[in-house]
Amino acid sequence: MKKLIAGNWKMNGGLAANEALLRALLAQIGTPAAEVAVCAPAPYLAQLQSLLNGSPIAWGSQDVSAHEQGAYTGEISVAMLHDFGCRYAIVGHSERRQYHGETDAVVAAKAQRALAGGVTPIVCVGETLAEREAGQTEAVVKRQLAAVIHAVAHCTSEIVVAYEPVWAIGTGKTATPEQAQQVHAVLRAQLAAATTHPERVRILYGGSMNAANAASLLAQPDIDGGLIGGASLKAPDFLQIVAAAR
Ligand code: PGA
Repeated sequence: MKKLIAGNWKMNGGLAANEALLRALLAQIGTPAAEVAVCAPAPYLAQLQSLLNGSPIAWGSQDVSAHEQGAYTGEISVAMLHDFGCRYAIVGHSERRQYHGETDAVVAAKAQRALAGGVTPIVCVGETLAEREAGQTEAVVKRQLAAVIHAVAHCTSEIVVAYEPVWAIGTGKTATPEQAQQVHAVLRAQLAAATTHPERVRILYGGSMNAANAASLLAQPDIDGGLIGGASLKAPDFLQIVAAAR
């Protein structure tokens, strides 16, 4: 299974900045060993489609509605993402859980809806600092993943999981490779109980992954890629992370 390096631009960018970033990536990406994707704000998905179509860089959204269509003001359906060529949709990012009240059940419904619409969900799980300090890390990530496994059932091998310790996101405090591997192994074991092909599920690490620490994280046996926030906004940094994934 190829590693996956996915950028999460969050609420950053603009038409001109996106174009400059994407052109810089395309100019230097060559034929990467890893699969590469960028997840942009929804208004820019058409721009990504026109600039990245036929390139080695896939694209995706940062969220998707749990509903199919209808009276859901402000929501974006998986069919719409599909129209714009999205391969991936991030679901359950901690910023959505924290600031938008997304529960495990909502995240699970979104993952299921994405899969049903032909878009691969990148399901984020991760503990807060308080949960880690209370010794609840494993219980929290297992609970978050269990809800998704329950919802997607026999399609479990088709999801991507991202372990993102909340305390490491945007803080410059990365989990050590050992800390991350420990949680990834727990998630892999949980996936193994749910699917006959747990090795097909890529488990990404996210949380202050950067050009300097990517190689040691990606060398861990159960770290199959990265979900990159801040460092995905700078072409040289993102390209170095891509190069570290082999
Ligand atoms: P970060 O964000 O790389 O800026 O820590 C990662 C994420 O939130 O997906």
